[in-house]
Amino acid sequence: MFPARKWSGVFRAFGFHHFRSHSVSRASPNLNFVPACLPPDPMEVEELQRFVSNSKRLFVMTGAGISTESGIPDYRSEGVGLYARTDRRPVQHAEFVRSASARQRYWARNFVGWPQFSSHQPNKAHLVLREWEKLGKLHWLVTQNVDALHTKAGSQRMTELHGCTHRVLCLACGDQILRSELQEHFEALNPTWKAEAFGVAPDGDVFLTDEQVRNFQVPACYKCGGILKPDVTFFGDTVSKEKVSFVHQRLAESDSMLVAGSSMQVYSGYRFALAAREKKLPIAVLNIGPTRTHLQKGKNSKRQ
Ligand SMILES: [Zn+2]
Repeated sequence: MFPARKWSGVFRAFGFHHFRSHSVSRASPNLNFVPACLPPDPMEVEELQRFVSNSKRLFVMTGAGISTESGIPDYRSEGVGLYARTDRRPVQHAEFVRSASARQRYWARNFVGWPQFSSHQPNKAHLVLREWEKLGKLHWLVTQNVDALHTKAGSQRMTELHGCTHRVLCLACGDQILRSELQEHFEALNPTWKAEAFGVAPDGDVFLTDEQVRNFQVPACYKCGGILKPDVTFFGDTVSKEKVSFVHQRLAESDSMLVAGSSMQVYSGYRFALAAREKKLPIAVLNIGPTRTHLQKGKNSKRQ
């Protein structure tokens, strides 16, 4: 395994600079949430190019680091990650299920953050992975992100390990609706409610005071009156066994693994790197900052 630094630079080095054929509209890179880093080491870039060239059935795992150049902060990066800039922490699954006021706070903040969060566009890295899929080089993509940017880029051979904020589920009857549809329900229920958003998090969360949250009305499931929750594996929840086993099968069919933009502190993704190592697959890690593969220790995951 080897680290590489400024990995958008690395992707540029793969010769995928020209994406004229894409219909996806792309905002210019927003570097506010990209951690400070050195330019890529040419030797490492060459090594990575060799790695990708030699791979015929690449298994790729991506994390929040791949979306920072789309203007979405990650969790753990020094200086610019959510944990470094704020004392906000993502909602815990048990708290969301147990507490109506926790849900009210979550949805009020999510409602305010949604217009901006849902407007982010894929960056070069997302588009390169989609291109590799079209070329038949990428066998399977598993992402830990819930921002839908791989979907917006057009990736299809993909598993969203932690779900996606663009879908909403009823915890009682399992009915699924689009998050954009829920936004309309929120607007109808809260015609005079207004709040300013302060900064957005990797899951679309923003900061609001308790005062601002108090009068926000949260709709129940229109079919059964059950609790609505984003189709996202919150921290403290587990990824379903079926999904994990499905991804392990895709990994077993692959001949190499590339990790991009993940420190792998969360076990739900790290386990695939462990499985790849057990199978003795070549593994490349492309990340700004240290990763668990280098530390070989660190806090255990909240998401399992
Ligand atoms: Zn329902």
